[in-house]
Amino acid sequence: MASRTVDVIVLGAGMVGVSAALALQARGRTVALVDRHGEAAGETSFGNAGMVQSEAVVPYVFPRKPSEIVRAALNQDPRAHIRYGAMPSSAPALWRYFLASTPGAKAETANAMKPLVFAATVEHRKLSEAAGASELLRPTGWIKVWRSARGQDATHKDIEELRSYGVRANVLDRAELTELEPNVGEAALGGVHFPMPLTSPDPQGLGRAYTALFVKRGGRFEKGDAMTLEPSAADWMVTTDAGRLAARDVVIALGPWSNELVRAQGLRLPCFVKRGYHMHYEAKGNAGLNRPVLDVEKGYVLAPMKLGLRLTTGAEFAGVEDRASPAHINRLEPFAREMFPIGDRKDPAPWLGRRPCLPDLRPIIGPFPGKPGLWLDFGHQHLGFTLGPITGRLLAEMMCGEAPFVDPAPFRADRFS
Ligand SMILES: Cc1cc2nc3c(=O)[nH]c(=O)nc-3n(C[C@H](O)[C@H](O)[C@H](O)COP(=O)(O)OP(=O)(O)OC[C@H]3O[C@@H](n4cnc5c(N)ncnc54)[C@H](O)[C@@H]3O)c2cc1C
Repeated sequence: MASRTVDVIVLGAGMVGVSAALALQARGRTVALVDRHGEAAGETSFGNAGMVQSEAVVPYVFPRKPSEIVRAALNQDPRAHIRYGAMPSSAPALWRYFLASTPGAKAETANAMKPLVFAATVEHRKLSEAAGASELLRPTGWIKVWRSARGQDATHKDIEELRSYGVRANVLDRAELTELEPNVGEAALGGVHFPMPLTSPDPQGLGRAYTALFVKRGGRFEKGDAMTLEPSAADWMVTTDAGRLAARDVVIALGPWSNELVRAQGLRLPCFVKRGYHMHYEAKGNAGLNRPVLDVEKGYVLAPMKLGLRLTTGAEFAGVEDRASPAHINRLEPFAREMFPIGDRKDPAPWLGRRPCLPDLRPIIGPFPGKPGLWLDFGHQHLGFTLGPITGRLLAEMMCGEAPFVDPAPFRADRFS
């Protein structure tokens, strides 16, 4: 069968891949977007908490205090959940995560991430307006609440650190908190409102609106398996349901599944996933929530979505394909019931997603070492919904020979070699 040729094939149609495809298309490239589902934003980019976190400069590092490590290791900290059976495969990457969580490394990552994080809302606004989907991004900000003096102290420290990078944060006493969120439970003693982030009631809908824009502008969207990628003469080749596709450049944007293809192409990276679950609930009575709320001491978010009130969990440490478990949601649900009048569950089982991570919590954006024409755009950890559009722009600038708007060195793949 004869192959069809485009300038670039983007593998993976999550928020990251779709955004890269749009950024390349905007620079005059013909682009094909390929996903095994034949639909966009069906995986991690569907089930997240929908926050464009333009405050999230400082990464979530591995705990450093021995007491915190022991609590987490014994599964006594509800903010994380360890699946012991997965430890043999996850342990090496977690060890590197621990090693990369020193105060110095944390500051290095924060400085590298700051320009991306701060520009995230601007890129999203441009795309959502062009896609006619502005109503899927709301200027509400989000709120972190504490339950105890200890939680308050820890949050104040975090705020100080964030403010040192220029993040805006408004501290709320209980009265100010209930002015913004009248239905928040008495368990919340106070909180902090980050006013700048945008929030989405339908992250998947936004990803699909961006994909529709890409197709409207002449992009091809095809169903196919990225693992069919192979070199061919001067090009790369991928087989989709519509036949063979050739391109000089290929972008790997497979989120948590990127590592599989990267390994098949001969590169070893210390990738791991922080898995997370969600469950939707009815609200009791007329209780409404205006924006996502993070219960910081218990480590879950409650976010108002079109599908219901979405409870999202923190990190579960297990392999990408290990079976899902209801344990983390079951553990957090009682805390959420103290925090907000939630009613019945709306989903038959918790949804499982996987945050794609590198130990220094920076994504990989740039060339595949030693493989001309192959490019990497993954590892966006807790922030892929936030950073998809802005990292798509950075990658497209590099691929098209433009001056990158930010130094791409901290995001190179060979920083791990
Ligand atoms: C519970 C939870 C809450 C979160 N909340 C937030 C938040 O509020 N804000 C935020 O910024 N981020 C959040 N995140 C993180 C964010 O969702 C991810 O970083 C982001 O979705 C990753 O996007 P992606 O496009 O890289 O991956 P994905 O969305 O997973 O996309 C990867 C795509 O690759 C495709 N694919 C995989 N293998 C193949 C193959 N072999 N062939 C073809 N296609 C393939 C998949 O079908 C999929 O469409 C959250 C994550 C979780 C789990």
